[in-house]
Amino acid sequence: MTTPFSDLPLNPALLKNLASLNYKSMTEVQAKTLPIMLDGKDVIAQAKTGSGKTAAFGLGVLQRLNVGRFRVQSLILCPTRELADQVAHELRRLARAIHNIKILTLCGGMPFGPQIGSLAHGAHIIVGTPGRIEEHLRKGTLSLEHVDTLVFDEADRMLDMGFQEVIDTILAQVPTGRQSLLFSATYPDEIEKLSARVMQKPVMVKIDSAH
Ligand code: ADP
Ligand code: MG
Repeated sequence: MTTPFSDLPLNPALLKNLASLNYKSMTEVQAKTLPIMLDGKDVIAQAKTGSGKTAAFGLGVLQRLNVGRFRVQSLILCPTRELADQVAHELRRLARAIHNIKILTLCGGMPFGPQIGSLAHGAHIIVGTPGRIEEHLRKGTLSLEHVDTLVFDEADRMLDMGFQEVIDTILAQVPTGRQSLLFSATYPDEIEKLSARVMQKPVMVKIDSAH
């Protein structure tokens, strides 16, 4: 059984763009997480690679965004530059119908100068790796005081890579009233501990890989 995106209370411009991308029906993880995210709740989602997790949190983030308010409203943390670039690419596709939206990637291995210049111009959504985000916070070139959606993508890999402490430093600068979304292919104990510290009564969605 499949559910069309049009069943969701999404902005009509987003829905029209999904149709033009040929995204007709939701994948299972999208169908099970989007209604909860659109309700403003925190979500932990475990689903295998290739199941459409990016569009799941991406649509949640885009629907919640107020484009008229030019502040960093959403922070998406990814384990590597390659993954951050992929997420930003998919988000820009999903956001094509939203005029003047600014999505910025901040990753290590890239020079600081252009990133600082882009930050000075402002952004709605930041996609990046924890180390570089923390460096910008330390330099005072990034403010997270208006963030109201925080996403951990591939959370299991971020913890495997030893980003725990850096993530804690970042979290200390994100407002507590935010929505937190955690997406992962696996759900080890470390993720459970992270979510217990970071999230408010999260709804857990687990997609069986046998499906
Ligand atoms: P994951 O993060 O779970 O590994 P991705 O978000 O990278 O998966 O999605 C895998 C692929 O599926 C991407 O190429 C994406 O464009 C495509 N995709 C996602 N959702 C849909 C959908 N509802 N309909 C069609 N294609 C989709
Ligand atoms: Mg992914």
